[in-house]
Amino acid sequence: MSLTTYSMNKYHLHQYERSKSNEEIYRCVHPRCTHYQKKEFLIGKEAICNLCHKAFIMDNDQLRNKKPRCPMCQDTAKGRAFRKSMETIKGILQEAPPTIEDDFQPLPGGEEEKN
Ligand SMILES: [Zn+2]
Ligand SMILES: [Zn+2]
Repeated sequence: MSLTTYSMNKYHLHQYERSKSNEEIYRCVHPRCTHYQKKEFLIGKEAICNLCHKAFIMDNDQLRNKKPRCPMCQDTAKGRAFRKSMETIKGILQEAPPTIEDDFQPLPGGEEEKN
């Protein structure tokens, strides 16, 4: 892993690692970042996956890991099911003839009823 993959901007998505001394605290592993946060405040927050380095939203399951991973990288029943469903969707999209895209219309809704 190279440091150049990290953004040196002031704002970045934190990549978390659990504190060695306090299981309730996660800190950012970014070399220039001193951010840390209590686990309970990280649920529902966006972070960088420790494996694939993509952004994901953390929940209680992910925060059981010392180094939280996104659902795609998690080796849990949920993660496997997620990966499987993604593969199935990809397979369907690949097998589908190009014209089928026309059938995927956005769901109706959100019509504004203003007069
Ligand atoms: Zn950070
Ligand atoms: Zn990942």
